[in-house]
Amino acid sequence: MAPSLLELRSVSRIYGQGPAQVSALVDVSLRVDPGEFVAITGPSGSGKTTLLNILGLLDRPDHGDYLIQGESTGELSEVERARLRGSSLGFVFQAFNLIPQRTALENVELGLRYRDVSRKARIEAARDALVRVGLEERLDHLPRELSGGEQQRTAIARAIVGGRSLLLCDEPTGNLDSETAHEVLRLLASLNQAGATVVLVTHNLAMAGYAHRMVSLADGSVV
Ligand code: ADP
Ligand code: MG
Repeated sequence: MAPSLLELRSVSRIYGQGPAQVSALVDVSLRVDPGEFVAITGPSGSGKTTLLNILGLLDRPDHGDYLIQGESTGELSEVERARLRGSSLGFVFQAFNLIPQRTALENVELGLRYRDVSRKARIEAARDALVRVGLEERLDHLPRELSGGEQQRTAIARAIVGGRSLLLCDEPTGNLDSETAHEVLRLLASLNQAGATVVLVTHNLAMAGYAHRMVSLADGSVV
């Protein structure tokens, strides 16, 4: 059997010490195959962000193992983890996380800052990514000159720039009105159709409905 793209094996994550301890994830096992669109749902506090941060190599499990393409990530150094993040993983957050004094094009170009490519190639790749999300008319706009939906599309362009094909999205529509939220989900669905693997964290079941598979969390466990 071919290895999954992502695989959590009995992962637990415990925050804090002693009586203040919180078991944010308890014995979670999960596989994501290339080209899947998976939604991770559950109420606030159920461990969704903790799970996504582990999948994104932003955090490490306390117990269990996390494998990418069949290779354990447990022994990777911080430098190796950062390199893997930079080459393969795109993040999309609720708050967009764009740099306010940089244009859309510059924000997307910054998604390539750890790559060993020329400035010219970076700008070209950033422009391509913005075209793919339908923002070719907004390259030189600052975030405050963009609508919420356009800011999130800029963030999605930053996540896919340079050919990254795994998108990790944490409540990407949490700051958007319902119509704009559906627009953003249609964009994620079209990127998935074009080959990207999408992991979407949301407590909104209407948004989770765009995914092909739903994983529900409650109190840190898959239910
Ligand atoms: P969700 O994204 O589903 O709302 P989280 O993964 O953010 O849930 O949090 C899961 C649990 O872990 C919650 O009880 C939360 O309060 C706790 N938690 C999250 N981050 C931390 C942290 N850095 N320190 C201590 N507890 C945390
Ligand atoms: Mg969260």
